Order: sequence, then structure tokens, then C-alpha cells
Amino acid sequence: MDPLELFLSQVDRPLGYAAKALQSQRQTVQGLGRYVIHRLAQIDDVPSSPSRLLLRRLARLFRDYDQVTEETRRQRLAAAQMILANLRDLAGRCVTTVSETAGDALALLTQPIEVLPGVGAKRAAQFRQLGVATIEELLTNLPWRYEDRRQTCPVSRLRPDVDQTVLVDVKAVGSGRTHRRRMTIVELVVGDETGLLSAKWFNQPYLQHQFKTGQRLMLTGRPHPNRYGGPRYQMDNPQYECMDQSGDELIHSGRIVPIYHETRGLTSRMIRAVMRRAIDRYAALWPDTLPPGVCRDVRVIEPARAIEEVHFPPEGAALAMVQSGQSPAHRRLIFEELFILSLGLACRKRAVQQEQIPIRLAGQGSLCRRVLDSLGFSLTAAQRRVIDQIEHDLRQPRPMNRLLQGDVGCGKTVVAAAAMVMACDGGAQAALMAPTEILAEQHAVTLRRWLEPVGLRVVLLTSGMRGPARRAAVQQIHDGTARVIVGTHALITSGVTFRQLGMAVIDEQHKFGVLQRADLARKGYHSDVLVMTATPIPRTLALTVYGDLDLSVIDELPPGRTPVTTRLIVESQRADAYRLLAQELALGRQVYVVYPLVESSEKIDLKAATQMAADLQQHRFPHVRVGLLHGRMKMEEKERVMREFSSGTIGILVATSVVEVGIDVANATVMLIEHAERFGLAQLHQLRGRIGRSRHPSVCLLMAGRGVGEEARQRLDAVVRSRDGFQIAEADLAIRGPGEFFGTRQSGLPELRVAHLLRDAGVLEEARACAQRLLEGDPALSQPAHGSLRSAVERRWAGRLSLMAVS
Ligand code: ADP
Ligand code: MG
Repeated sequence: MDPLELFLSQVDRPLGYAAKALQSQRQTVQGLGRYVIHRLAQIDDVPSSPSRLLLRRLARLFRDYDQVTEETRRQRLAAAQMILANLRDLAGRCVTTVSETAGDALALLTQPIEVLPGVGAKRAAQFRQLGVATIEELLTNLPWRYEDRRQTCPVSRLRPDVDQTVLVDVKAVGSGRTHRRRMTIVELVVGDETGLLSAKWFNQPYLQHQFKTGQRLMLTGRPHPNRYGGPRYQMDNPQYECMDQSGDELIHSGRIVPIYHETRGLTSRMIRAVMRRAIDRYAALWPDTLPPGVCRDVRVIEPARAIEEVHFPPEGAALAMVQSGQSPAHRRLIFEELFILSLGLACRKRAVQQEQIPIRLAGQGSLCRRVLDSLGFSLTAAQRRVIDQIEHDLRQPRPMNRLLQGDVGCGKTVVAAAAMVMACDGGAQAALMAPTEILAEQHAVTLRRWLEPVGLRVVLLTSGMRGPARRAAVQQIHDGTARVIVGTHALITSGVTFRQLGMAVIDEQHKFGVLQRADLARKGYHSDVLVMTATPIPRTLALTVYGDLDLSVIDELPPGRTPVTTRLIVESQRADAYRLLAQELALGRQVYVVYPLVESSEKIDLKAATQMAADLQQHRFPHVRVGLLHGRMKMEEKERVMREFSSGTIGILVATSVVEVGIDVANATVMLIEHAERFGLAQLHQLRGRIGRSRHPSVCLLMAGRGVGEEARQRLDAVVRSRDGFQIAEADLAIRGPGEFFGTRQSGLPELRVAHLLRDAGVLEEARACAQRLLEGDPALSQPAHGSLRSAVERRWAGRLSLMAVS
């Protein structure tokens, strides 16, 4: 007989009997715990890993069974019955190989949650509102916070204004309405041996029928002095748990209790009850994808236990650790998720790196040196370091894929120029793609100045170019007379062919999608790629979102800059603001006035910007030229305005956020940003980067629109206080979350269910390191021992790993 079946036949009867005995309060079965543990020990060979997990769990239930209270025994027996039912399922199926059982477990975990007792169509629909349809999704629907209900406080010892939990009896139930706002109030007088307390719930009239005199409740809330006479303290809208229900206290109180996101009709309490059932039945089936070596290295607990404890932290768990996602249970799940993410990324990167190309730069690289020597300034150490890294890449027989990150104004353009010159030195063409025509135009001017002296012809191609100008540019790109090509999206349109593109540089990458990066690279034959961004992406995210790229950082500004002072102002200070503008203009400096452009109301906003320009010109600054710049203007017009601003003919430039990226006019020292609250923080930082580009002190004024709330002000305050783009980006990210921060088209990553890239940065680094180590020994995850890991990676990355070079 199969050892599993034998075991089942041995314990089935005694367990059933014990359960009945407990129910009817008759004598209990003596020594049941010892008996089950003994039988468990005699199972010598269990083939399938799900059964092994289930048996381990069973052992946990019975290890101290003979010593625990009757109540606990009842709980444990109920849990044991569930496990036995699952074991019977598995035994009946005679599963043999590991991969088959993993598949079986997966099939069980991906069942709809309706298979759980007590979950019908209606409840399931409510869960779907929370993004939970399957058992697996339910189990990874983690609590968003926890409440410590282990310690109850005697009523007489309550302190005001801190969350506390009391265990009390209901003495009286009443209801009424508030005088002024006519809300319903349900009020209870509750108490224990030490005193009385008032509890009030507002606008939840149905609660009146929930409570009965004499009922035992656990209340968690923040007491405050009761101004209406009666008990000394009152709790408003406390969390409550009714204690005298069907013996499930142990999941709702007397422990650290999980609090879930709720939806209409589905409370945390209900979720908790369903979760308990799901865990009892299915947690043990959770596949253990981490190879033993990795588990040993990073010391993580087994997944079934992690799933259980992340929802129901064990006795003695530290609330702070649980709350901050650092408990062993959290760590296990987070690690696994990030490990799988890292494996996918690493596979993608490997696939790219395995490409062989001819060495791009074989000579001395003297052309580049000549350019850098003629700049008129010397490079910062950071710039020199990055140029060295690029040169090193170009001397390898594999394509470069490098992300260059550096705060606004740190001088990335020079680095791009150096990279392009090196590629040209090796005989190829180089292209630089920028997100706006204005920026492309500006880059063309700069690069001509730097590169034409060494004989490299620079050609501009933008979407705005038409007719003969466009035809000429396209022809020169095609026949190779154009050595360095600067442009917008126009570069990746189908009509454009390069003679021999060897280096693709993408400026302000965050303004493009991932795909466009690939599109430009594809115009070449195994092109090297340099991606530049001034949106300072936190390192953790850079590693993830651009995990298939090597990272270079410029963390130093050129010397001689005076930091920008930033102030948050309101409408009533407008006159002061204009006075400041006037002062700077009188000193010969220039000014930006920036208007937000919200896509949904683009027309209105454009009108506002246009009117502002006219108003400033006519009424405020009649003696200074005011220019207007926005994305809807014709190419030639934009060029003209930019030229006039660069040369100083225009004193005040009223612009939409088109000036956000790249624009470089060192003489501008003031920026007034209207409706600052409508911009993202990182975007504000970018805008502010347009000033502070000379020795003259610069000021950035953030004008908050009328009626801006406290929250928005606090948000803006992050930009006022910090000049560090990374800090601001982190603040932005924390507020908006990675999805919005990058926009969905940017990320192309699998959704993360348990990890937070920011919070779990440390774990991510660890997971990356482990992934790399593992792939060194088994690059395609083809060893049998890595089978379940490989299928987990494929599953999570479904459809996104087209580059994955697994055989
Ligand atoms: P970003 O990194 O924001 O693209 P830019 O490349 O536009 O910055 O550089 C900002 C300004 O600083 C430009 O006018 C550029 O010529 C100048 N610059 C760059 N590097 C240096 C340096 N090492 N010393 C002095 N000025 C520099
Ligand atoms: Mg730039």
C-alpha cells in the first residue's frame, strides 16, 4: 500500500472521533497528538512535494496538541480535516513525478475562489473588485496593515489619543442623530470590571442591530475625553469584533490581526475569514520554486509558512517588522517575487549580450580627444569616468547597452557627443534622438559647433521638416555624407535609412517608450545604444525598469553654478513676483514663465498661456520683448522664438512644459511656474533645471493655484526643500507609485503583487545577486532541479520575455 494511503487509514478514524468528542463536550481522546506524530514519523517515502508540505503542516498542528487548550484543539482538528481532505485528493491521484505534482498544485491554486466553502457568486464578484479571482490571487492579496490585538487594556487604564484595544461587555445600546449635521449615531455603553466606556459610530445605522446588551466585544480605537457626561472616555468609530461567535475569535482578536483593503459589502473581517479557509486548504500547496541553494544562501522560510504568517503573524511576532514588510514571511514572498523578476531581466540582458559584433573602436580614439580638447571647458571627473566606460564598451566585441543617468544640467550632451565621435572614428554613423523639435534643433546647433571642426557633418531631421529640406537630409543619411544625425521621432519613421548606423543615442529617454529605443537601434546593424535620462530614477528602479542596461551615473555638476533658490508663493504675492522679474530683467537677465498643459483641456490652457503672454507684454513689461513657445507652434516659429531667446532679444519666454527638457540658456535666472500643483515633482525639478546655469543666483517661484489644498502644498514643499533630483524622484515615486511615475508603456514589467520596489530595495539587490549567481551555473535554467523555477519565470513574464534565450 502507498505509504500515504496507509497513513490516512491510520489517522482518519481517531481524528474523526476526537472531533466528535470535542463537539459533544464528552471526554477527549488522550494522547492523540503523540499518536499522529508517531504515525507521521513512520511514513518513509512520499514522492510528491505537495504531500510533503501538507504532512509537515500536519506535524505542526499536532506537535504540542496534547498540551493546548480545548479551544485550540478544536481549531487544530478543523485545520487537520482540511489537510487530510487534500491529502486524500493527492493520494487518489497517484502522482509520481515532481513536475507533474507542481502542475497539480498549480491547477489547484489557480481555481476560482468559489471552490472555497462560503464563497458564492456574489462574494466572488466582490473579491474580483479587489483584483482577486483565483485562490492564488487571494493568498497573495496581502494585508495593507496590521493591528496588534494581543494586548487588551483595562478600561480604567486607557490613555487618551493612542490606539488601544479593550475587551468589554455591552451594557447599553442606543441610537440618535447629531444636531447640526443630522448624521445617525449608534452609541454603546460598554465596560469591563474596571470601568465604563462610550463607543460611537457615525452614519452606520445598520450597526444598531449588530449589537445586543450582554454581548462581548473587542474594540480597537483611540479614546478621547467624553464631553457629554457618562463614561470618562469615548471612542469614535472603533474597530469592533464580536467575541461570542462560532469560535473564530482566534483570527479576529488576541493576535496581530490583518487588515485588508475593503470594497463595498466586503469587510476586512469577511476577507479574514475567507483567507483563513483558503490558507488551511491551499497554503501547503504553494510551490516552492526557490532552489535549495538559494534558500540556504538567503535563509528564507518555506513558502507555505510564509503564506500563512504573512496573513496571520505568529505569536510573538514584532508588530513593527510585520507592519513594514520585514517579517520572515514578508521577506520570503518578496524575495521570491523579486528573484523571479531579476531572473527574467537577467535572461533578457544575457540574450542581448550574447550578440557578437565587430569591435566598433579599434584605433586610438584620437578624434574624440581632439573634440574634447576644443570644448573650452574641462570635463568633470564624472563625465570623464562615463566617457571611459563608453570607450571600454566600444572596444568589446558586443553591443553597448548603457543607461546614462544624471541630474539636469550635469552635462550629458558632451558625453553623448563623445560617444558619437568614437563611433564615427570607427567609420560608422551616429544618431541622437530627442523628444522635442526644440531640443533636437538645439542639439544640432551645439553638435555642429563641436564636431564640424573635426570634419564630421551634422544633419538635422525632424518631423516638422518638409519638402526639399527633408529630402536632402534623408538622402545624406542614406548615402553616408551625414555622419552625425540629430532628430526627433522622425528618425525612426520608415522612410529613413542609414548607410551604417553604429551608435544610437536617446536623449531624455523617459519621454520615449521602451519600444522606440529598440526602433532606433534596429535602424543600425547591431548598433550600440546609449540611453540618457535626466529624470533621476531611483537606483532600484533603474536596475529594474532598465535592468537589461548597464548603468552609468554623472553625480556631479560642472563647477561655477549657483544653486537655485525655490519659493512656494500664492496669488496674493504675484505683484512681488513681478517685481523680482523686473529686477532681474533690469540686470540683463532673462526669465521663463511656465504654464502647465493638461491634455484634456489643452485648448483652454493654451489660451491661458497666450493671454498671459499678451498681458505681460502689454501691461506689465512693455519695454521687454515677451515671447510665446508651445508645442502646437510651427517648427520655424519655434526655432525663431528659441533663437531670439538664446540671443537675448526675447527677455521673457512664456512657455508650456515643452521647455521642460534640455533647453540650455545660461543667462536665464528666474522661472515662474504657474499652477505648480499640476506638475509632477520630477517634472518641476526638470523645469527648474533650466535656470541656475551660470554664476548668477537664480530663483524659481512655484505659484500655487487658487484653492490648492494642504496636501498639494506639502508635496510641492519637497521641491522647495530639496535640490537633489534623486530625493525628489523618490518622493514623487512614493506619492504616485511606479506605474504612474513611468507610465505603463514605460515599464513593460510583470505586475508585482507583494514587493514594493522602493521599500524593498535591499531585497531587490539581494535577489539580483542571487539570480546572477544562479544563471552563471545554469544560463538557460535548463537543469532539472530548476524546472519549477523556470516555469515560474515563464509564467510571471508571460509574453514579455521574447528575448529570453532559453532553449
Ligand atoms: P544635461 O545633462 O541636462 O543635458 P547639458 O548637457 O545641456 O546638461 O549641459 C548643461 C550646460 O553645461 C551646457 O551649457 C554645457 O555646455 C555645460 N557643461 C557641460 N559640461 C561642462 C563642464 N564640464 N564644465 C562646464 N560646463 C559644462
Ligand atoms: Mg540634456
